[in-house]
Amino acid sequence: MTRRFDDLADAVLAGTPAAAEDALDVLRTTDDELLDVVAAAARLRRKHFGNTVKVNYLVNLKSGLCPEDCHYCSQRLGSQADILKYTWLKPDEAIEQAAAGLRGGATRICMVSSGRGPTDRDVERVAGMVGALKQEHPDVEVCACLGLLKDGQAERLRAAGVDAYNHNINTAESHHDDIVTSHTYADRVDTVTKAKEAGLSPCSGLIAGLGETDEQLVEALFALRDLGSDSIPVNFLMPFDGTPLEGTWDLTPGRCLRILAMARIVCPDKEIRIAGGREMHLRSLQGLALHVANSIFLGDYLTSEGQAAEADLELIRDNGFVVLGADEDASVPTDGAATTHDPAKRRRGAGTELPANA
Ligand code: SF4
Repeated sequence: MTRRFDDLADAVLAGTPAAAEDALDVLRTTDDELLDVVAAAARLRRKHFGNTVKVNYLVNLKSGLCPEDCHYCSQRLGSQADILKYTWLKPDEAIEQAAAGLRGGATRICMVSSGRGPTDRDVERVAGMVGALKQEHPDVEVCACLGLLKDGQAERLRAAGVDAYNHNINTAESHHDDIVTSHTYADRVDTVTKAKEAGLSPCSGLIAGLGETDEQLVEALFALRDLGSDSIPVNFLMPFDGTPLEGTWDLTPGRCLRILAMARIVCPDKEIRIAGGREMHLRSLQGLALHVANSIFLGDYLTSEGQAAEADLELIRDNGFVVLGADEDASVPTDGAATTHDPAKRRRGAGTELPANA
C-alpha cells in the first residue's frame, strides 16, 4: 500500500487543489495502486456528499436529425446508427416521461434535445413543459440541455423555473477540432458561461475514450474546474456503428475508474456523475465507482438502453449508499426484502441434456 494518494487526499482536504501532475499520476497508476486511488478519492467524496447518490433521469425531447457533426454522436449529421428519430415530444408526453423517472427515484430531470441550439420558439416550448412539470412536481430539479444558447435564452429558461443547464465541453480544447468541426470549443464555453451568468447551475462534463491523451483528459478536467461547472457528467464513449468513431474501444473498467477518481481529486466538491457508457465500460466495477462518483443516470440514455432502473437502485443500496432526496426508509430496505428472491434452480449442464453455463 502506498501513502502518496492518501497524502494527496489530505492535501486536497486541507484546501490545496490538486495539480496537473497529481491528476496525471492518478491516471497512470498501476493495478496494484488502484484501490489506493479509489480510497483517496472516496475520502473526498464522503466529505462532500456523505453516503448520498444523486439520481438523474434523461428525457430525450427530440432525437436524431441533428445538423452538427460531432463524431461521437449517434444523432449527428449523416449518422447511420439505427436510433430512434423523432421531433419534439408533445408537452404531455414529455411530462409523462419525466414522471416515470421521478417514480423510479430520480430527483433531477434532464430535458434534452438534439440540434445545434434552440430557436426562441423552442425555448418557449421547453419553458412551457418545465412550468407544467413543476406544477405537478414542485420539488423536481430540472436541467435543460438544448445546445448552444443565444443571448437571452438562458435568462428565459431560468425565469421558467429551469434550475441547471447542461452543455458538455466533451474534450480538451486541444482535441476539440478532431472530434467536431461544425462548432468550436469557444462556442461551447460561451454557452456554459451564458448559463452560469443567467443564474442556471452550470452542468458541463466530458466524454472519455475519444482518442484523447492522458494530458488532454487532465486539460479537460482543469478547464471544467476553471469554468466552475457544478456538475460534471463523465461519459465513456459508446462507439455506435454508423458514426466516425465506430470501433473505437480505448477504455477498460480500470481506466474508467481512474478517470472518475481523477475527476474527484481535481474537483473534490463538485457533483461527479457517471454518465453514458457506465454499464458498457465500468461493467463489474460500477459499485466501486460509486465510492468515487456521487451521481448517476437512472435507466436509459438518450439513444441507448441502460440497465434496468431497479438494477441501478440496487447498485446504490448494495454499496451502502442512499438516493439523495429520497425517503431513507424507501431507499434502503433494512431487511433486504425488496431484492431477495428464491435461488434460480439449475436446469442445465451436468445431469441435463442442455449445455453447461460456461
Ligand atoms: S452532440 Fe448534440 S450537437 Fe453534436 S451531433 Fe449530437 S445532438 Fe448534435
